[in-house]
Amino acid sequence: MSSDFTYDVVIVGLGAMGSAAAFELSRRGLRVLGLDRYTPPHAFGSSHGETRIIREAYFEHPIYVPLVQRAFELWRNLERESGTTLLRETGGLMIGRPDSELVEGACRSAELHGLQHSLFSSAEVRERFPALQPDDDMIAVWEPRAGILLPESCVTAFLSRARHHGAQLRFDEPVRHWEADDHVRVYTSVGEYRTRQLIITAGAWVSALLPGLALPFRIERQVLHWFGPAQFSGDFAPDRCPIHLWQFDGRQFFYGFPDLGTGVKAGFHHGGEAATADAVRRLVTPAEVDAVRAVLRRFLPGADGPLRTSVVCLYTNTQDEHFWIDHHPRHAQVLIASPCSGHGFKFAPVIGEILADLMQNKRPRFDMELFRQR
Ligand SMILES: Cc1cc2nc3c(=O)[nH]c(=O)nc-3n(C[C@H](O)[C@H](O)[C@H](O)COP(=O)(O)OP(=O)(O)OC[C@H]3O[C@@H](n4cnc5c(N)ncnc54)[C@H](O)[C@@H]3O)c2cc1C
Repeated sequence: MSSDFTYDVVIVGLGAMGSAAAFELSRRGLRVLGLDRYTPPHAFGSSHGETRIIREAYFEHPIYVPLVQRAFELWRNLERESGTTLLRETGGLMIGRPDSELVEGACRSAELHGLQHSLFSSAEVRERFPALQPDDDMIAVWEPRAGILLPESCVTAFLSRARHHGAQLRFDEPVRHWEADDHVRVYTSVGEYRTRQLIITAGAWVSALLPGLALPFRIERQVLHWFGPAQFSGDFAPDRCPIHLWQFDGRQFFYGFPDLGTGVKAGFHHGGEAATADAVRRLVTPAEVDAVRAVLRRFLPGADGPLRTSVVCLYTNTQDEHFWIDHHPRHAQVLIASPCSGHGFKFAPVIGEILADLMQNKRPRFDMELFRQR
């Protein structure tokens, strides 16, 4: 038991953000201890489900573009260092009415940052990508660089490289609580650890580790579905079907992936029920499957085949849906970095780099204004 050993940094939670931070901090030579309540990658938090979208023409805000550009570089570095394939570029389509938040926002980011992109009419989308059937009054922003990350492989690669760089990683060891004065003491199911600094990347469990702070995080249940294509399955191959996001009927968002061999994956973005990490309803009802089917029938009719599987996942939302990456309001040696409102995975390596900079009192090279406590 290492109760006398002082670490430079203890990281609570080794999902996307924590594993990335463990990798980056250990790579920089810090003494790192990473703790997780399960054995990551696992299917109880927010970083499972085979695929994640990465895209550059960021509709949510142009401030994310330099971050995602750095993330692309870092994912490729991690691929080289780990000898694993993690990212597949398929291109991406953001589809909606011309005045939708999705289309307008993607165009704004693309224009402001000079990103390669094109606008397609609904007919052009149907012709180029026959799997996708937008309404006549929709258009699409096409960006060639978007693609797919493999989240379980990404977390595994971060953790194995962190270990290689000397990080100690302990799984199935939940952190119960922590205390801070001139250093930090972390209490787990097994014992106590002393560290100079602490990073809390506990995903949907984050609030439980921050008692006394009424932080405005909202956990949202989201369901992912895989369907066997009903017809024209070649249309869903990755070279014929890019990743796609849709805004329809006002503010409803939906996304989908090509078939990587396990079926066509699709789901709603937001609109899920409020949940807690420990008591979330894991069972998926036929009505939830029907709701996705209705959208498939309308926009991807060839994907409306047999349901293969459905999986529940969790968003940790902030009020404005921007990230929260900041020091604890009362303890400067504690950083909080999980709430990413359902769009954080693609940024994991750059968030790992930002956390490492903040731990080393270096100014991150990015504009962090949107991500501060608010
Ligand atoms: C359905 C779905 C689809 C998504 N799609 C995309 C997408 O396409 N593109 C994109 O960029 N993002 C996407 N996201 C968002 C992205 O996946 C998340 O922002 C990201 O995975 C969150 O990572 P995390 O490290 O904060 O949380 P997690 O990966 O959940 O990690 C938190 C870890 O903390 C551990 N933990 C919790 N409490 C304790 C404790 N007390 N002691 C020890 N360990 C603890 C947990 O076991 C867990 O391993 C999606 C999310 C979901 C749910």
